Amino acid sequence: MITLALSKGRIFDETLPLLKAAGIEVLENPDTSRKLILTTNQPGVRVLLVRATDVPTYVEHGGADLGVTGKDTLIEHGGQGLYQPLDLQIAQCRVSVAVRADFDYASAIRQGSRLKVATKYTAIAREFFASKGVHVDLIKLYGSMELAPLTGLADAIVDLVSTGNTLKANHLIEVERIMDISSRLVVNQAALKLKRAAIRPLLDAFSRAIAASETP
Ligand code: AMP
Repeated sequence: MITLALSKGRIFDETLPLLKAAGIEVLENPDTSRKLILTTNQPGVRVLLVRATDVPTYVEHGGADLGVTGKDTLIEHGGQGLYQPLDLQIAQCRVSVAVRADFDYASAIRQGSRLKVATKYTAIAREFFASKGVHVDLIKLYGSMELAPLTGLADAIVDLVSTGNTLKANHLIEVERIMDISSRLVVNQAALKLKRAAIRPLLDAFSRAIAASETP
């Protein structure tokens, strides 16, 4: 049995075509079913639904053999014990710094001001501002980061941006692009050795599907 950990939403939706290319179809719809373990048309493959931030933990400790997780989540987790064979190029977005439209970020940086930065991505934010030589007080949040600059909790946020619509709707502007993000396949290192015969064909099918989607 191979167990694949996915999170609901973009990652689940965008992994389905890759699974299909490997001959795997998930038989239950996570939006209508309350089940957390989903069966597939392959008796030897099942899908586990976990929180996005828990995918690396499940795979690291062998609760799942494989998983799909954003580069952002992997960096925050640290990636220990995980083999990362493939960039699946799905759920693409970026991690950026955003501020209120009336906050002069450039002059705050120029003057060496200490910035209050709210984020879920403390590792990424710490490394980014340290590399710029900017002093920051990081405020860890778990959601709705856009509220932080609007309420005076922080001067800036570090968050995922895709279309930019969420920032715009909250009168925030993107002032720095920290890194591009896509989702990776992660594999438990022991499972890769012990279940190689089952996992290898899956990796090969995913690689072919990614290569095919890249070809214009
Ligand atoms: P957007 O309005 O399209 O810029 O999307 C931004 C919102 O969607 C933010 O709240 C992000 O946290 C979330 N978001 C965007 N892209 C992703 C992604 N690839 N994975 C998870 N959340 C995302």
